[in-house]
Amino acid sequence: MSEFGLIEHIARLFADADHQGWEAIGDDCTVLPIGGDEALAITTDMLVEGVHFLRDATSARELGRKALAVNLSDVAAMGLPAVATLLSVALPKDAGEEWAKEFIAGYHSLSKEQGIALVGGDTTASEDKIVINVVAIGRGPLSNVKRRSAARVGDAIYVGGRLGASAIGLKDILSQKYDTPYAEQHRLPVAQCAEGAWMGARKEVHAMMDLSDGLASDLCHILRASQCAAEIIVGQIPAVDGDVESAVCGGEDYKLLFTVESDMVEDFEHDFEAQFGYRPYRIGRIIESVQPEIIWLNKGERITPQWRGFTHF
Ligand code: ADP
Ligand code: MG
Repeated sequence: MSEFGLIEHIARLFADADHQGWEAIGDDCTVLPIGGDEALAITTDMLVEGVHFLRDATSARELGRKALAVNLSDVAAMGLPAVATLLSVALPKDAGEEWAKEFIAGYHSLSKEQGIALVGGDTTASEDKIVINVVAIGRGPLSNVKRRSAARVGDAIYVGGRLGASAIGLKDILSQKYDTPYAEQHRLPVAQCAEGAWMGARKEVHAMMDLSDGLASDLCHILRASQCAAEIIVGQIPAVDGDVESAVCGGEDYKLLFTVESDMVEDFEHDFEAQFGYRPYRIGRIIESVQPEIIWLNKGERITPQWRGFTHF
């Protein structure tokens, strides 16, 4: 069973459970309204040695920041600020006190920058691999929450930053080139926390999620949840080094992907730039369709991409 197959199986199994106000599986976080216009958003993400990182290719300190950053990215994707986290670690004997202290120093440095407390977790031994699990909690106005299901026909589609650096960096790391700028971006992704919380308060921002698996795969989650299709102008994808394949199919960029009401794009881009000093990248639009597909356009013509690792949806 694939990862998504298992998640669908779990979601179906629990579909009729009493959710007691919690939103069901399917978005970057689950959301609980807590009275007035307040809500909590909660997410969890795991990093496993050998699957998500190689111990020799990353420092413990970097890993501490990354474990937190990838979770903060999911909270940002809901349009809320993160307020607290829980951290669980399973450590083998050869990742001893020194490794653990460095890891926590990294985790603490990003927590401090973001003003977030660590309020719980679990610590245990492991046979030979390091396993890290983080729970991140966001809190803010329920009316600011952005869901994958909120894209509307006509919306402009944006990404919050340049794409593909992490995938290129991973290739560098796997060929033992650890000190390239892209390798560093792979080890130290920067979540768009301030941007996510700011966009939460912008009514013209409709659907939002973060890019962890790659644009081609992640955009389909919005399209499926919102029951629509997308036209993407390939030439407008902000691909690092002009490497469109890495930008579209590579994962772990942790930039925000969002849709904006079409007649608000000028004001939105202007205000975004005034706030953050750069413009987000408009890459296409949402179109009406019963099939949640991505139509890739190159110079106005529809193309069928031949990118490696690209599976047509
Ligand atoms: P993300 O990339 O944003 O972390 P995922 O693709 O990992 O999201 O997960 C998609 C959805 O499935 C999310 O709502 C997540 O909470 C849920 N999910 C993933 N794995 C599990 C699981 N083992 N049990 C329950 N829900 C899960
Ligand atoms: Mg996500």
